[in-house]
Amino acid sequence: MKPAPFEYHAPITVEEAVSVLQSYGDAAKVLAGGQSLMPLLNFRLARPAAIVDINGIEGLDYLRRDGGWLAIGALARQRAAELSSLVAENCPLLAEALPLVGHFQIRNRGTILGSLAHADPAAELGAVALALGAELTIQGPNGSRLVRADQFFVSYLTTALAPDELLVEARFPMAQPRTGYAFVEFARRHGDFALVGVAAVVSRNNGANRCSDVRLAFTGVGPVPVLITDPEGVLRGQPLEPAGMNAFAERAAASLKPDSDIQASGEYRRELACVLAGQALEAAAARSRGD
Ligand SMILES: Cc1cc2nc3c(=O)[nH]c(=O)nc-3n(C[C@H](O)[C@H](O)[C@H](O)COP(=O)(O)OP(=O)(O)OC[C@H]3O[C@@H](n4cnc5c(N)ncnc54)[C@H](O)[C@@H]3O)c2cc1C
Repeated sequence: MKPAPFEYHAPITVEEAVSVLQSYGDAAKVLAGGQSLMPLLNFRLARPAAIVDINGIEGLDYLRRDGGWLAIGALARQRAAELSSLVAENCPLLAEALPLVGHFQIRNRGTILGSLAHADPAAELGAVALALGAELTIQGPNGSRLVRADQFFVSYLTTALAPDELLVEARFPMAQPRTGYAFVEFARRHGDFALVGVAAVVSRNNGANRCSDVRLAFTGVGPVPVLITDPEGVLRGQPLEPAGMNAFAERAAASLKPDSDIQASGEYRRELACVLAGQALEAAAARSRGD
């Protein structure tokens, strides 16, 4: 099938893109890598009056260090980040998750920010953003605003972005000392969206093999990626041993409420989330020790 007819705009500045978006109300769609939008257009699941192609805007394809952050522009391709030594050295969780996103042909065009803006709850990068506490810069008609990742994902394929706003930058905190990161997932075939994925961040106390902080973020367990931290300090101060981490994984998974669908029952997804969370925590803990 071919897309329904639409007006095509190719702005050359962010301001122009926002202005075009504003002129269409909620009837325009931003085109970045097109890897999610084009299938929706071709199947006529989306019928926007206009496409605002941001690929001609110069200077948005950056991956750079900005203080304690890795700053990523709206046109940085997933594959460029995957191959970047800056990302590998400073944001190992993102580096580990990127090769799991579809196939490399998709990552050649797909953007990191496009994945976040699309907000598929099975997408790896949403969980990475939540687990790391990423910050997102959004540009709209009244200027720019900063939104934390835990306030960005609103519902299935829905974010805090207004129809006339552009996501221009994502900032991921640089890797911290004595902190380990891991991303694990289960997909039926390599390149498919995973049934469930888990990002884990484990920090340990200086000089001791004890946990000082833990964050887990899940994909595929609800309409949005789910962040689980440890506000009650269940794991904090505890030895980083498998028993404690598995107990935390069980507790985290028990709080999830995945729906059943054609791929898997909710119960199966919860069980999978528990097993994968245990694996991710153990891998992250080992890396926090430099293993
Ligand atoms: C066969 C296949 C397999 C895939 N497998 C996976 C997978 O395993 N895991 C995974 O996470 N993804 C997967 N994807 C999706 C892929 O990662 C997409 O690249 C990504 O979801 C969207 O990025 P994009 O740059 O292509 O965005 P586009 O397709 O251009 O846009 C997607 C949506 O986000 C909006 N948007 C894009 N950029 C911005 C912006 N800067 N500001 C505001 N709105 C914006 C668009 O308007 C659109 O609604 C797969 C895709 C395909 C085709």
